Amino acid sequence: MHNTQLVDPFGRRITYLRLSVTDRCDFRCTYCMSEDMVFAPRAQILSLEELYAVADAFIGLGVKRIRITGGEPLVRKNLLSLLNRLGERPELDDLAITSNGSQLAEMAPQLRAAGVKRLNISLDSLQRERFAAFTRRDKLDQVLAGIEAARAAGFAKIKLNAVVQKGRNDDEVLDLVEFAMARGLDISFIEEMPLGSISSHQREQTFCSSDEVRQRIEQRYELVRSSKLTGGPSRYWQVVGSDTQVGFISPHSHNFCGDCNRVRVTAEGKLVLCLGHENALDLKGLMRAHPGDSQRLRAALLDALQLKPERHHFETDEQVQVVRFMSMTGG
Ligand code: SAM
Ligand code: SF4
Repeated sequence: MHNTQLVDPFGRRITYLRLSVTDRCDFRCTYCMSEDMVFAPRAQILSLEELYAVADAFIGLGVKRIRITGGEPLVRKNLLSLLNRLGERPELDDLAITSNGSQLAEMAPQLRAAGVKRLNISLDSLQRERFAAFTRRDKLDQVLAGIEAARAAGFAKIKLNAVVQKGRNDDEVLDLVEFAMARGLDISFIEEMPLGSISSHQREQTFCSSDEVRQRIEQRYELVRSSKLTGGPSRYWQVVGSDTQVGFISPHSHNFCGDCNRVRVTAEGKLVLCLGHENALDLKGLMRAHPGDSQRLRAALLDALQLKPERHHFETDEQVQVVRFMSMTGG
């Protein structure tokens, strides 16, 4: 009998796909992109039909959760048509989006109606000037309005994501936690990853560990470990006496690799088996050479999974090892 589930050589079952729908973005966050970022020509980006074909192949192989990301996914034209189709797939337990929030004031109700269950919204600072320095765009008010619109639209979960940098926003950790608590949101703090070569700062000088962030929070709030496991680099803690969970995303500690349950597909259709490795399979080439051949696509995914590495090796003090930017891979 043919193998119909995605299991890698280390026995890890893949149930979670992160699908990037564009490498473009209306922000230029300093840790993610350069100001003069060159984006892929449109012909190199998967069409909405191809994106659906990829998602369909993964769903057929047992994937239960899909997160749509980018770049900024909400700048992709006609994204709703893709979401509407995915929202109708009963096999999916979860359809989620990671967004910078800039388009949410307008789009939140449509996303909810399309069947998106959970939203992650990036927010690194509550201070206008700092926000503008992080994103190179003066759009804090727009993002805050987007967060309110998302709350009103009734998503099952909304989580904020903040990259923490020493000397830049590490003193805002408690403010961000309180912002989340006051609105019944979860929040994750992210250690910066060495993805892509950047010129705006030296990553090792601004590196702020999850342990430090947690200690700052524990100066004011009691945190207890949550039982929630994601199969990813996040660990969650409950703020005692509130609904808010605080997550810490620490890609630098590789102990989460052992229960990794995910793969990524870039906007250009490359299957990335591990965020910390360069090896990738060109799904676009395969789909364009054999349009509509879903059997071949599934077989390629099953084969590719045999190449999933056991773990990554991120080190801040070594040269950039992964030349892809996060916006290309999808965060
Ligand atoms: N544009 C959307 C957003 O900002 O939420 C989705 C894509 S973005 C690449 C996804 C997440 O990756 C964001 O929360 C962002 O802060 C994070 N990110 C980008 N570059 C990063 C890096 N070098 N290290 C850690 N996180 C990064
Ligand atoms: Fe755009 Fe998100 Fe990257 Fe910021 S982190 S530049 S919002 S893709």
